[in-house]
Amino acid sequence: MADRLESNNFIHNMIDKDLEAHKYGDKVHTRFPPEPNGYLHIGHAKSICLNFTTAEKYHGKCNLRYDDTNPVKEDTEYVDSIEEDVRWLGFKWDERLWASDYFDEMYRCAVALIEKGKAYVCDLNADQIREYRGTLKEPGRESPYRERSVEENLKLFEEMREGKYSDGEKVLRAKIDMASPNINMRDPVIYRIAHAEHHNTGDKWCIYPMYDFAHPIEDAIEGITHSICTLEFEDHRPLYDWVLREVGKWPEPPQQIEFARLNLTNTVMSKRYLKRMVDDGTVEGWDDPRMPTIAGIRRRGYTPEAVRDFCERIGVSKANSTVDIGLLEHCVREDLKQKVENRNVVENPIKVVITNYPEDKTEEMEIENNREVPEMGNRSVPFSRELYVDGDDFMEVPVKKYFRLFPGNEVRFKGAYFIRCEEVIKNGDGSIKELRCTYDPQTRSGSGFEGRKVKGTIHWVDARTAVKIRIRNYDYLMLDEEDGSQRLNPDSLSETVAYAEPSVAEARPGERFQFFRKGYYIADEKLTTDEEKVFNKIVGLKSSWKKK
Ligand code: ATP
Ligand code: MG
Repeated sequence: MADRLESNNFIHNMIDKDLEAHKYGDKVHTRFPPEPNGYLHIGHAKSICLNFTTAEKYHGKCNLRYDDTNPVKEDTEYVDSIEEDVRWLGFKWDERLWASDYFDEMYRCAVALIEKGKAYVCDLNADQIREYRGTLKEPGRESPYRERSVEENLKLFEEMREGKYSDGEKVLRAKIDMASPNINMRDPVIYRIAHAEHHNTGDKWCIYPMYDFAHPIEDAIEGITHSICTLEFEDHRPLYDWVLREVGKWPEPPQQIEFARLNLTNTVMSKRYLKRMVDDGTVEGWDDPRMPTIAGIRRRGYTPEAVRDFCERIGVSKANSTVDIGLLEHCVREDLKQKVENRNVVENPIKVVITNYPEDKTEEMEIENNREVPEMGNRSVPFSRELYVDGDDFMEVPVKKYFRLFPGNEVRFKGAYFIRCEEVIKNGDGSIKELRCTYDPQTRSGSGFEGRKVKGTIHWVDARTAVKIRIRNYDYLMLDEEDGSQRLNPDSLSETVAYAEPSVAEARPGERFQFFRKGYYIADEKLTTDEEKVFNKIVGLKSSWKKK
């Protein structure tokens, strides 16, 4: 089982040992290093929580570093969204840095390796390099360019930088060991040619460092002590260490520590896949409430507290596994339970006419805002002769154990009276026009009536003052198949028109409620206007997630 994030986990145990040995003095410095090529998702949230809470725990520091070593046009949209997301989660970075600011230093490190005879310019093309690399079973073959002299390598690398060669014509490779059992150590490429504009450095460079060379240097320059990354990089750690050792500038170089990335059921987390869904219109944008992006989760109505609680509960481990998305939903429910007020809202409304209730009378019923938190007080909700109930709360022919409204049955209208359904009135097409009901005046809520009991309690909305709202109900964007693959769910969004008690007309964008007996909802930030309230269903009331 995974260790908790905040309490001691295997990473913190390693840090404790380093602190005891004064490996980095009493310093702990982490970083969160996103590539600004998309929006952050719930998997990144795990990494953010881990890096920032680790720094907090040890009174250390955590940088936000953009890993922008690939030449691409600046996308300030991504940069802005990343910063908004980290802040939303409740974290503050110590410094905000750009890996591309270190290009000069990285170049000097590469030259230093060449001078030591530890790097060479290679003219093999990408296919040839792959072919020479060998396999897990067979050692690789040495490049015919491997024994170039230091002088020749220095000259060629300089020419690469000057733009004398086209993309792919030459690369700089580390000279390590073509027979290494670790394929990453078989003379990996550390610089490539790319005649492309970089958002930060413009056309200053036409050679760019590869991730495995750049990342350790970025960490070392910033004085990072513990460079936390996901498990796929475990096999790259010998190269991480090799680069820092051979460049040799840092007496106590950072160490890479790997943890298992977050995988969630019914969720894709590849930025590339998410971007495609945005670009082809499968979703309404990066912040579509069905998206696993932090922006999507936020718009959906999840809270930062719930996301952090989730990251804490899943903890960190060394073994890959897939977490049930029900756990995330459980954390959201647990958080909202204490925080939001109830409102009465009915979907697929059915009209109820209380035939023995005076025509022009309205009573203000006092209804508690949150049963679990009495301090949240009551609100008054109008009640009169014509009401709406939820389509799910009436059955003309009840199934077994159905205790809600059906002809001849009496139920409690929450916060009001006992109501009996006397007659179903239909339209010409057979659909229900209204339910004729009667009420019993002595059963008024709060009157202490104990004459008889009813089994069902349902909610209602006063017809005259009802507010029409739109509700967007969401299902998972992805469906998991038996064989482990995923496919797009064609029915992940459905909209209904609903009626709400009058106070819902005042809902501000971003305001959350429990729609009584239905679930948690948020007034959508983008779609809610003064005229029309549009709600996202955040999560239902019942958990499908079971404690193991
Ligand atoms: P992609 O490969 O889809 O572009 P990425 O995961 O490589 O995305 P980065 O921006 O490079 O995205 O990630 C920044 C940090 O977030 C990295 O340290 C990475 O390890 C971490 N991270 C990304 N995905 C997950 C995940 N699912 N669980 C935990 N950490 C993650
Ligand atoms: Mg990446």
